[in-house]
Amino acid sequence: MVGAVEQVTLTCQRCGADSTHELAYAGRLLVTSTCTECGHTIERDVRDRYVADLRHRVASKPRRMLRRFRRHPVSYACSLPRAVASKPLDVLSELRLVLRAASDVQRKDTE
Ligand SMILES: [Zn+2]
Repeated sequence: MVGAVEQVTLTCQRCGADSTHELAYAGRLLVTSTCTECGHTIERDVRDRYVADLRHRVASKPRRMLRRFRRHPVSYACSLPRAVASKPLDVLSELRLVLRAASDVQRKDTE
């Protein structure tokens, strides 16, 4: 599992079918779209935007966490170990997705 994957029905650019496409996101950014009928994949190089987005997410986190803490101190404290443990992994898998898509885009450009 890399990033967040969403399934949406779209018309495929290659096979023309209205088929289920798997959209892979890194944070809020769409990175790849894959047609489940023919396997056609569209990849986007979102490195710059992802880094900018990540910086924003990290920068806005303390305020967000503080707000949650004020509202629900106990449930927030209980949820903390899991949230803290899972976040770096999320970012790592997102980064992997972003970098893989970017290198694929570059390879296709030079072909
Ligand atoms: Zn297709």
